[in-house]
Amino acid sequence: MEHPENSAEYEGLMVNAGVDHQEIVNPYLNHMRKKRQKLFTVDEYVEGILRGDVTRLSQAVTLVESTLPEHQAIAQEVIEKCLPYAGNSVRVGISGVPGAGKSTSIDAFGIHVLQHYGGKLAVLAIDPSSEKTKGSILGDKTRMERLSVHPKSFIRPSPTAGSLGGVARKTRETIILCEAAGYDKIFVETVGVGQSETACHSMVDYFLLIQLAGTGDELQGIKRGIMEIADGIVINKADGSNVDKAELAASHFRNALHLFPLPDSGIVPEVMCYSGFYDLNIDKVMAMVFRYIDKVKQSGYFQYRRNEQSKYWMYESINEQLKNNFYYNPAIRAMLPDMENAVLGGQMTSFVAASKLLDNYYSTINHTS
Ligand code: GDP
Repeated sequence: MEHPENSAEYEGLMVNAGVDHQEIVNPYLNHMRKKRQKLFTVDEYVEGILRGDVTRLSQAVTLVESTLPEHQAIAQEVIEKCLPYAGNSVRVGISGVPGAGKSTSIDAFGIHVLQHYGGKLAVLAIDPSSEKTKGSILGDKTRMERLSVHPKSFIRPSPTAGSLGGVARKTRETIILCEAAGYDKIFVETVGVGQSETACHSMVDYFLLIQLAGTGDELQGIKRGIMEIADGIVINKADGSNVDKAELAASHFRNALHLFPLPDSGIVPEVMCYSGFYDLNIDKVMAMVFRYIDKVKQSGYFQYRRNEQSKYWMYESINEQLKNNFYYNPAIRAMLPDMENAVLGGQMTSFVAASKLLDNYYSTINHTS
């Protein structure tokens, strides 16, 4: 297509068409591509993961994220075999609006944790928007400069395929593989909008909310019901002339938290100011997280929360599979457009259309079972 700037309006400016990419002609590269897709046996994946082999772990995660049934079959077996070795970690969810400083902070938190708490750290992400943008905005290695080159960290961007439920399930399954590979600290990054925070909350032991001062975030957080799921609130960018504003925001949060009932953990969320970029109070924020973990491990709430999460995921998994089974049913697929049109055209109420579809679905199921 002709470039719009080539119109007569832009006299003296001529934009040439770009050059198309060439086909790959180097046969060696094709060979390399094929090699990369090679599948291993379930035991080979499991053995590699348990050995802490990062390449094998990455390859297994790719299978978890794949939508191909043959990949999924292997992935599910690998997950099952890794399960007995999983669970032995501290999982921390980190959320905040875009620009709150999540990646800067995770870089700083991660380096601090590796230096002072030891072990290995995996950084995963839940980002349902990445399906649309065809590229993840979270968990990106290039945004975590120090962690990305640290030998004890494993960074994986958000899986891109599917609904939020699907993306979240894949992240949860990846946690299991990472834990089996010896990662005993897991950070799950999520963007502070919509349901992804709830999904993240449902798989972590501690949910940390990053806020900014003076952006109306205080009210936003309270309105969105986020205060109920945060285990700790931190105000980032408390540096330079922003320190006073950050302290003021922190006291607003502390006051607001008193208005809410005590969380199930029995621990009132702490509120703290820090600066991810200038490495200020990083130690205090991480101490706050691990203090909480110690307390809930002692009180038994840690295990209770994990059990509740497993129950939640059982129902989520049923819901997802039922929904898929319904929408992929050929009879339903054939009926849906007509029913939709009938509802849009006002010839049928939504309730009647839904009943007809479901009746049809039940009868096809009874027929085949
Ligand atoms: P994300 O979108 O939440 O991951 O945010 P980023 O980590 O990409 O940070 C967004 C912008 O805020 C970048 O320009 C950072 O340099 C800046 N930023 C992050 N943390 C701090 C901080 O502690 N202080 C200041 N002044 N800027 C920061």
